[in-house]
Amino acid sequence: MFSLKKKQTIEYLQSSLFGNCDFLEHAFCTRRGGASQDDYKSLNMSFREGDEEFRVLSNWDRLATAFAIELEQFLVVNQVHGDAIFTIKQHGSYFSSRDELNYDAIVTTRANLAICIKTADCVPVFIVDKVKKVIAVVHAGWRGTALEISAKVIKLMQNQYRTQPQDIVAAIGPSIGKCCYEVDATAVDAFGCHKNSEYFLFPGKKKDKWMLDLPEANRWQLIEAGIPEGNIEVSGYCTTCNQDIFFSHRGSGGITGRQVSFMMIKSDNPCRALIIDSELSVIH
Ligand SMILES: [Zn+2]
Repeated sequence: MFSLKKKQTIEYLQSSLFGNCDFLEHAFCTRRGGASQDDYKSLNMSFREGDEEFRVLSNWDRLATAFAIELEQFLVVNQVHGDAIFTIKQHGSYFSSRDELNYDAIVTTRANLAICIKTADCVPVFIVDKVKKVIAVVHAGWRGTALEISAKVIKLMQNQYRTQPQDIVAAIGPSIGKCCYEVDATAVDAFGCHKNSEYFLFPGKKKDKWMLDLPEANRWQLIEAGIPEGNIEVSGYCTTCNQDIFFSHRGSGGITGRQVSFMMIKSDNPCRALIIDSELSVIH
């Protein structure tokens, strides 16, 4: 079960599957509780969508304050609808503000680093190895899903951290649902050779259109990778049907904000993502 919670002004969802992981902090934020206005109302976490910079900064401040996490501990990447995975090692520096961070997934064992995914219809997938304490966040739109980015993250966890699939719990956050996600032949062709596509790709009402169930497509990737079905939770929220709660790119016609979802391993050891305050808007 996902449940809606609130810390200070910030309204967010949490997965009950992660409830037993006391080393974790996580939130799938809604659009509620921020300072942005109009199309970006109100917790818009992206500087790149035309919102006023001081409001986005204020939103990041509110999030950081609500969860008592330093602003510099949040790591955001340039999501590019690919399948590149950013692995952050336990020790050493890994990031300077000049780096081009073109990735759609982040994997780490590093504590006190809040790894983030921004979405407005795409799927945020959170993956946790409870035993080895490895965490991963994935941005999966149709392109990334067709590239099987969630499956690739699990393969990487198996290769680099010796993760056992049965030790994994996963939460699939709010995204556009099969009720609203009409796609054309380009997207369908990309899924052409996928196993089990009959469970997430359906004929649409219009000619040459299909309905794509992105959360279900990602759920199948996790199941095919050996994760027990009972270890996977899906939010059930459609962002387009629930625009009072979430930003939706499709539902808004394109001009809208981005909600952030983050996950962090809690620890007393300090960690900074080396993000320089004055460059926050360049990076996020
Ligand atoms: Zn919908």
